Amino acid sequence: MHLVTLIPGDGIGPEITRAVVDIFTAAQVPVQWETHNAGETALAESGQLLPQTLFDSLEKTRVGLKGPVTTPVGKGFRSVNITLRQKYDLYQNVRPAKTTPGVETPFKGIDLVLFRENTEGLYAGLELWDERLGIADSISRNTVVGCRKICRAAFAYAAKHGRKHVTLAHKGNILKQAGKLMIDACREASAEFPEVTFYDDRIIDNMCMQLVNKPQQFDVIVTTNLFGDILSDLCAGLVGGLGVVSGANIGDDLAIFEAVHGSAPDIAGQGKANPTALLRSALMMLEHLGEKSYAERIEQALNETLLNKDQCTGDLGGKASTTEFAQYIIDKLK
Ligand code: NAD
Repeated sequence: MHLVTLIPGDGIGPEITRAVVDIFTAAQVPVQWETHNAGETALAESGQLLPQTLFDSLEKTRVGLKGPVTTPVGKGFRSVNITLRQKYDLYQNVRPAKTTPGVETPFKGIDLVLFRENTEGLYAGLELWDERLGIADSISRNTVVGCRKICRAAFAYAAKHGRKHVTLAHKGNILKQAGKLMIDACREASAEFPEVTFYDDRIIDNMCMQLVNKPQQFDVIVTTNLFGDILSDLCAGLVGGLGVVSGANIGDDLAIFEAVHGSAPDIAGQGKANPTALLRSALMMLEHLGEKSYAERIEQALNETLLNKDQCTGDLGGKASTTEFAQYIIDKLK
């Protein structure tokens, strides 16, 4: 039995979390949940966006499944997600994007995985505001160690999963220092993993154009924090949007799996939310825990459900509620 910290989150978070927990229970997945909240709900309950009890739980279980959280804007709070990523050095943001039959999109045959550096770059938290001069500096800090870690992780993943090709997206023609760090780090990793037969690099703007023009050519992509933030949502758009893609924040000894969409306050509490993104993130978590057979069984039931529009939620063109959608998946497990 694996002990996992469950963070339901805000807005639609509790609804999609319930759906995932119900599906796991029906599939008799060997996971025991320890529930702790974060975000606005936690703030109302405990006076803290990230209560100490949540940190204690994560440090015990080393694995979390997290619904979307709302960080109050303009009240001086630091983003919950960035705080968790930096506190536990969750330096890999892993975002698969794969075409699913039944999920409509103009693009076919996509199967790629994006590795975004998750703790450095422009999101390192180094911002200065000079009131007198009217200047805002947002400093992008990239380290040799950080670049090596994310590039090595991308190549190691490619080697482990039989993927043949890694592409680095960078802006080394303008941001020469940071670009060189990533190019050097990829060359080192490429030498360490010769079974990944092809490594190339693209300038980020060209990369965006090629991802839209011919996304099927990409296999594993690695990039820095800001570029990865943008590219990963672009890739999500190629395969059906944020409601259907999974995400993971992985460090060397702790990992948090999360739906990458937000808390969707416009539909919260209405039973309209699609739990697919959180479910797929939970399936990535099962693979991480070494429970691949459970993940495959649930994924098959999910994919069969996605083929029938009537059984899907409104964002996928269906009429089912969150709980009905989950029930259709559960019915196919039997
Ligand atoms: P959002 O992703 O919450 O919503 C954008 C649109 O997509 C909305 O119309 C929403 O209804 C729809 N949507 C999102 N997820 C859906 C789902 N599972 N099923 C059906 N429809 C879905 O983005 P936003 O409105 O920009 O942000 C709302 C809040 O979420 C903000 O407070 C933001 O800070 C937070 N946020 C949290 C995370 C996270 O915790 N990982 C990520 C992004 C945004």
